[in-house]
Amino acid sequence: MNQFSRRDFISLGAKTLSGALALPSLSGLLEGCAKAPVITDLDWRQLNNLIMGEVILPDTSKRWRQFVGLEIGDNTPWALQYGITSPKAIVRCVNEKDVANTIKFARERELPLVARSGGHSYAGFSTTYGILLDLSMMNSINLDLAKGLATLGGGARNRDVYASLREPSLSVTHGRCKAVGVGGLVLGGGIGFNMRLHGLTCDRLVETTMVTADGEIIKCSETENKEIFWALRGAGGGNFGVNTSFVFKPFPVTTVTYFNIAWNDDHFAVFKKLQEVLMTAPKELGVKVSVESKLVRTRPGSLTTTIGISMLGQFHGSKAEFEALIKPVQDVSPYVGTIQEGLYWDAQEFLSEAGVPEYVHERSRFALDWLSDEAINTIFSNLLKWPKTSGYALWKFFLTGGTIDDLAPEATSYFARGAKMITSIDLGWNPKVDKNIPENLLWMDKFHDEMEKFTSKYSYVNFIDRRQKNYLDAYYGPNLDRLRSVKRFVDPSGFFNFPMSIPHN
Ligand SMILES: Cc1cc2nc3c(=O)[nH]c(=O)nc-3n(C[C@H](O)[C@H](O)[C@H](O)COP(=O)(O)OP(=O)(O)OC[C@H]3O[C@@H](n4cnc5c(N)ncnc54)[C@H](O)[C@@H]3O)c2cc1C
Repeated sequence: MNQFSRRDFISLGAKTLSGALALPSLSGLLEGCAKAPVITDLDWRQLNNLIMGEVILPDTSKRWRQFVGLEIGDNTPWALQYGITSPKAIVRCVNEKDVANTIKFARERELPLVARSGGHSYAGFSTTYGILLDLSMMNSINLDLAKGLATLGGGARNRDVYASLREPSLSVTHGRCKAVGVGGLVLGGGIGFNMRLHGLTCDRLVETTMVTADGEIIKCSETENKEIFWALRGAGGGNFGVNTSFVFKPFPVTTVTYFNIAWNDDHFAVFKKLQEVLMTAPKELGVKVSVESKLVRTRPGSLTTTIGISMLGQFHGSKAEFEALIKPVQDVSPYVGTIQEGLYWDAQEFLSEAGVPEYVHERSRFALDWLSDEAINTIFSNLLKWPKTSGYALWKFFLTGGTIDDLAPEATSYFARGAKMITSIDLGWNPKVDKNIPENLLWMDKFHDEMEKFTSKYSYVNFIDRRQKNYLDAYYGPNLDRLRSVKRFVDPSGFFNFPMSIPHN
């Protein structure tokens, strides 16, 4: 059905089409591209008239430059090395009808389209040369306290969760980075310090509304479009449609003990004892442990590489209980840092990070078992051999288990139930200063490959990584065939795709 009436066509109404008048005809941009469809300014005006939101065409404004990665701002894609692309248009949607109309517009004109919520894809997969469908204005959060449900707009970010759940003392499993989009987070599983006690972010999801490649608006839950709902809980980001809202079951929060502690000596013994403690730790504990390559000045003019171990997290329990829990590690080597008891949402401020765009590469692996001495030595020796940048290098893990394992691996498309940890190697740099990035990336590849035998061939899709080999197996694991069936059913032409998406054929 043609969406555009003649009235739409001729009336621009009160809205203006940002950027359009400052530009030559967009069709000019496509000249010389034999197969590229021709989109005129009139087409964009039609779309602009059709939606409540706004179509922004390329211009030199700060806003445009931030969206496409030329300047840093709230809507800049986080992974700066992939950030700079020039979409044909940015469509800022404000409701699900806008999303549906934008998808239909793109399909009719054979334009690629990607959705962006928080823009924090590690691999820059919310960038495109087609239509960038921006959901950031759809960030409302509505609480139904009687039903115990929170409905989040498809573009809400962690920071919106922080702001709206503080007052009623509720929470969901959220991340620490305030700027990360809940959309990307929940559709890939969603890990956070609450996950061992309350499940992954996707485990708290009870319903989501999604716009399909046909522009149809559907609800997905355990009772409606069940198979699509299954797929969306762990493998959803960018694969099946555009999710415009998420209904979560939040849980009450009171006080927690939160901490950021570090060990400067006896690293091998500390790591071993820490792992031993974590093996039997109660599910009330949520932690991230980092092993960092550190440069220390041993004498004037001489720098030596050493190791630092730190642990950040929270414990749903008292400070005394937490201190008793980690006493065996303290007995190996005393820690330095902060351990404090306080209100849950104050703790989240302490634990949070802003998540400003960076040059970073991250490579992940699920560890299906605890790490052997050989594995620990492999981590340490690789970090000591780091070729160095002006940024940082570390290996880290998030402790999983607990409530996450209450569900079977096939219960949701997040399959790594039963894994002990999500591990990753992180590398940060500054391209203006560091001239040895290829050497650093090769170091990282080798480190990542060496860790496979100690961890697994599986990786966390929310830490998506363009250098990952066998990525379909790594990210979608034993669920791949079932995910392909869902894909064929809901998006048979493969309209929603990105370089590592689930194939439609
Ligand atoms: C600084 C930082 C901290 C992080 N911390 C955590 C953490 O604590 N826990 C954790 O689990 N992960 C964490 N991540 C990873 C994060 O969950 C993923 O990068 C996630 O995909 C980001 O979501 P986004 O909406 O911000 O990203 P975007 O770049 O907007 O989207 C990521 C992908 O999902 C798709 N997508 C986004 N929104 C929708 C939607 N509404 N409907 C359909 N598809 C959509 C996009 O098209 C793209 O393919 C972190 C990442 C960063 C950079």
